[in-house]
Amino acid sequence: MSRIERDFFARDPEDQKAFLEQTWCNECMEADLGMTDPVEYELDGVVYVEGKCAKCGSVIMTEIADDETDGEWEDDGEE
Ligand SMILES: [Zn+2]
Repeated sequence: MSRIERDFFARDPEDQKAFLEQTWCNECMEADLGMTDPVEYELDGVVYVEGKCAKCGSVIMTEIADDETDGEWEDDGEE
């Protein structure tokens, strides 16, 4: 699957702020340290924001449950 670039900065400022604050860093093993240099892209139907840990500089990623991609959620999937 190819990676589709998206514009992170086209999001609402509040969304941007939330994504940049609500992070998980595998190096620091700590949540919400913050992210710098965010880049948004879509891969295999899933939207990600990738950036750097504000504390250690490691690459971190956040998966986004986007409104555009949740059209097929069904509770009664069992038949
Ligand atoms: Zn870190």
